[in-house]
Amino acid sequence: MAAKNIFSRASAEKSVFLDERLLYPEFVPERLPHREKHIEALAYCFEPLLKGRKPFNLFIAGPTGVGKTVCAKYVLRQLEEYSDRAKSIYLNCFEFNSRSSVLSSIANFVGAALPRRGLAVDEIFSKLLESLKKCGFTPIVVLDEVDQLLLSENSQKILYDLLRVVEYEKQRIGIAMISNEAALTARLDPRVRSSMAEQTILFEPYTPQQLKGILAERAELAFVKGALEKDVLNVAAAHAAKLGGDARIALESLLKAGRLAEKENSGTVSLKHLEQAFSSVDSASLLKGFKHLGKDEKALLKIIAENPSIHAGKIYEFYRSSDSGELKERRLRDVLIKLEKQNFISFEYVSLGNKGKTKIFSSRIPKEFLIKELAKEGA
Ligand code: ADP
Ligand code: MG
Repeated sequence: MAAKNIFSRASAEKSVFLDERLLYPEFVPERLPHREKHIEALAYCFEPLLKGRKPFNLFIAGPTGVGKTVCAKYVLRQLEEYSDRAKSIYLNCFEFNSRSSVLSSIANFVGAALPRRGLAVDEIFSKLLESLKKCGFTPIVVLDEVDQLLLSENSQKILYDLLRVVEYEKQRIGIAMISNEAALTARLDPRVRSSMAEQTILFEPYTPQQLKGILAERAELAFVKGALEKDVLNVAAAHAAKLGGDARIALESLLKAGRLAEKENSGTVSLKHLEQAFSSVDSASLLKGFKHLGKDEKALLKIIAENPSIHAGKIYEFYRSSDSGELKERRLRDVLIKLEKQNFISFEYVSLGNKGKTKIFSSRIPKEFLIKELAKEGA
């Protein structure tokens, strides 16, 4: 008898999903329960565009997983379907956090066709203005995770660049900034605040009851009827509510639990699958933003995770002796500050007796998570 084909197992698996893509974090569902008011408020900001006027620039804030990104995308998608006066460009500032990357993305979006390399920021900026003048639509620039732009001087300048476009050039452009930090506007220059955050829309965490409703609706479309065992939805909603009303954690847990059920060929998703899913989802949320860190940043984070309460000199020593070590000591201190601002590491001062005091660093991310994550990347 011929050996069994290794793929026969996969096709024999009983699928619990109708369509698992409906649970993906970037999927924009057709209905967003409990966000009707927020959606209306967002639409209000863009309505002037339909009458040929300037939209309100807005600031959207609220904790993680409460629908900020998905509601913004939903409203902008509807706007673009309704009218061709506006088109949106979505930039996640974890990824787009330098002046040249943000400005050239917008410039290209409005038709500048920039060369991939070699232009100075000022040149990119003037090409952007030039193309904006000729552009047949109003661009709406979504700066998601905009707090990432406040980490360095270079990236803060982006907000002034955009302010210049908004204020002085009388150009039509809409800005929507999104952040987890409601108090962020207090850290902005008053001029940036008054022009770029004309309206503020706050998203509050979902209650356990609301989470359950949201999950039930998404699960109904994503799973085969009857695939979720009793209480799976309730427990997923309660878990996410405990972690701050975060719908992303709940949806991701269901997705992972469903995949575990398929792997075991079990036909239904049980509470056991869900519990197993929780641990990997929770660790992934600790690592938010991790994949956007540079090689050196990751190397430093690893050193700190492996050596809790380490001081800067020692970090530098370890770093120099690893294969990656190309940064100068001064740059390395900047990277440490950035990692601290992004909440990957923390530091405290310890006294050296009569020699003053020194800073010691610790990782907020457990070593095991980090090593697993780096191994996945083949780093
Ligand atoms: P935030 O940007 O606030 O961190 P997201 O917009 O990414 O949160 O939402 C997290 C996840 O939860 C996404 O997968 C999103 O589709 C889903 N989600 C959030 N709110 C709702 C809702 N009211 N109805 C359906 N799905 C939602
Ligand atoms: Mg978001």
